[in-house]
Amino acid sequence: MINIIGYPEARLALLFSEWDEKTYHVRQVLNWIYHHGAEDFSVMTNLSKSLRAKLTDYFFIGFPRIEKKTVSKDGTTKYLFCLEDDSRIESVWIPDTGRKTLCISTQVGCRLACTFCLTGTLGLRRNLTAAEFIGQYMAVNQVLPEEDRITNVVIMGMGEPLDNYEPVVDGLRLMVSPEAMAIGNRRITLSTSGLVDKLEKFQDEDIHVNLAVSLNATEDSTRDAIMPINKKYPIRVLLERLRQYPLKKRRRITFEYVLLKGVNDTPEDAVRLAKLLKGIPCKINLIAFNGFEGADHQSPSRANVLDFQNYLISKNYTVFIRKPRGDDVLGACGQLAAETLAVS
Ligand code: SAH
Ligand code: SF4
Repeated sequence: MINIIGYPEARLALLFSEWDEKTYHVRQVLNWIYHHGAEDFSVMTNLSKSLRAKLTDYFFIGFPRIEKKTVSKDGTTKYLFCLEDDSRIESVWIPDTGRKTLCISTQVGCRLACTFCLTGTLGLRRNLTAAEFIGQYMAVNQVLPEEDRITNVVIMGMGEPLDNYEPVVDGLRLMVSPEAMAIGNRRITLSTSGLVDKLEKFQDEDIHVNLAVSLNATEDSTRDAIMPINKKYPIRVLLERLRQYPLKKRRRITFEYVLLKGVNDTPEDAVRLAKLLKGIPCKINLIAFNGFEGADHQSPSRANVLDFQNYLISKNYTVFIRKPRGDDVLGACGQLAAETLAVS
């Protein structure tokens, strides 16, 4: 049996034509599942009995199970999921005035081993399926009261999305499809450590979500040391690809830059960063390192972060400092995996 959650719309259409069913039923099925939260094919009363029977024989409707919910003092809520094979992943719900953002995971662990990231210490345990990827959104939305429903999605949880390419692309298509999850593509941001070959492929998928790139250093020697993937795709190669990345009107690439004390937070780094990004329509998100037990890095001082920001602003960049949200429950950037570690 196949989980229909995450099953691509185009494949469902093919299957229906094999079954000699009209393809407009695809839209009805997706509506039931993604708009009405149907958990059983029997409730889909506008479909014929025979189609419902075929669907029931072929598919099941399954979401990842929420095992635990931890609420931070700032309202940020971390959801721990237990998957079918007992793997654990986390999603983080972040309330803000006017928007509720869900940060979702794409892998159990991550193989890219960035030195500042707790998820990276796990190694890659396994990829998530498309159902587990988008199921995080659906499962969390189901338990939220109406006024707290998710408005924005950031793919910045555990894992490297472009390292789990097909399921993530399948999931994204369902997220943006009006028949399925109907989330506007401007409300979705995919964050990547910069897998250049996959970025090239992704730009041809015609999925126009926002792109965030974790740059985190201005010299290859530093980036090699903190993000081993840089040895494969050095800064120059990555930025060259991004210069050619097709952006829709008024869209910009977000560069994430985790400030690590004494590693990449000097005034010279700020100068180099301003030069490197010249000509790329972008904004910059500075993130002060969020610590975790056993980490080899330290957070920069507040003054240092502000100096870094001010220099870039003086060079006409749009620069935000990302507030640590949910850090008291290890829900902030780079802190996901604690629970995964605790139960394994
Ligand atoms: N693998 C993707 C998405 C997950 S990481 C990526 O690397 O972009 C999401 C963001 O959290 C990245 O920008 C990463 O640089 C940042 N991050 C990781 N560990 C962090 C930490 N300990 N403190 C602050 N930010 C961190
Ligand atoms: Fe993986 Fe991103 Fe963490 Fe690096 S920062 S180890 S790419 S999840």
